[in-house]
Amino acid sequence: MQTEKVVPFKNNEGISHSLIQSLLKKGNDYGIKAIFPFNIEEIAVAEWVHLKCCYGCNRYNTNWCCPPATPGPEKVRAILREYSIALLLVGNQSCPDFYLDNGKKRANQVRYWKGTISLERLLFLEGYYKAFSLVGETCALCKECTYPDDCRFPKERRPSVESFSIDVIGTLQNLGKTSKVAKHRSESFNYYGIILVE
Ligand code: SF4
Repeated sequence: MQTEKVVPFKNNEGISHSLIQSLLKKGNDYGIKAIFPFNIEEIAVAEWVHLKCCYGCNRYNTNWCCPPATPGPEKVRAILREYSIALLLVGNQSCPDFYLDNGKKRANQVRYWKGTISLERLLFLEGYYKAFSLVGETCALCKECTYPDDCRFPKERRPSVESFSIDVIGTLQNLGKTSKVAKHRSESFNYYGIILVE
């Protein structure tokens, strides 16, 4: 029985504050500092995001969690119609790790990745059986992705938010949140993951 509904589902059920608090407690272990539930319609899907994946990103066609291995924008829109709510997961890290392809950066990516999937698992166990994660950046669970050969960790494999043609900045604006691009290595930047829930 859900109480303290924060965002209603299509069927008028909801997700409780206490569950969000439990998710946050677990998420903290992985660097996830905040969780915001919101209506699925606030997610901005755009063709240009897919375009940027295809042209200008060196991850294209190199990872199971990036295009062309992930669904295109039309398919994504159809998938999102099967959900009511999304949870925005927010973490924060410092900029030097972003620009350098070093071990620390990868360790952070893996930490957030595992954290996001563990929250999806918790939601599943709470009865939200359709819960599905979209993880920030690309999969870094392996030092080098085996793509196009078989994935080493298929149970942990999820599409990245960007590979789902989601305009992250546009979505944040829809939620009334501001985001800034880190211009200097001394600046920190945010991690954004999304979990789809019904
Ligand atoms: S788990 Fe490894 S093989 Fe699978 S998508 Fe991630 S990096 Fe690639």
